[in-house]
Amino acid sequence: MRKKKRWRYYCAHCGKVGGHAGWMRRHEASCTLNLDRVCGMCERVGIKQQNIANLNAALLEDIRAAPYFGYDKQVEPTQLRELSQGCPMCMLAAIRQDTETEDDWSFRGDNDSINFWFEGERDTFLENFNRREAAKCHHG
Ligand SMILES: [Zn+2]
Ligand SMILES: [Zn+2]
Repeated sequence: MRKKKRWRYYCAHCGKVGGHAGWMRRHEASCTLNLDRVCGMCERVGIKQQNIANLNAALLEDIRAAPYFGYDKQVEPTQLRELSQGCPMCMLAAIRQDTETEDDWSFRGDNDSINFWFEGERDTFLENFNRREAAKCHHG
């Protein structure tokens, strides 16, 4: 019989667990709950990452611009999308991170109140990026 003990690595910001220190270190750096996160997605497509305070402010504008809240009403994250240049990770970070706007939303973290679907947002973002890259090749 062989017996083996393994280290488990826990993200300091969210509840994620993993068996590899290097992977967890990379995750922690860009974790959407890390206030000082470095966005891997922004880096990947070469756009300038916006700081979380500005992203949160943009989202708050969107929330305030919503006519009213109701069970069937959703906030359109228009300004958030514009400021983040559509980066789905940065948008998610702003949506998950509640800094000082508790009153405006007891519902933050419950993403149903915001019209944001991560997978869809990401696909659109990467499609646009690929299209721009393709266009670059054609025009020199
Ligand atoms: Zn995490
Ligand atoms: Zn980003």
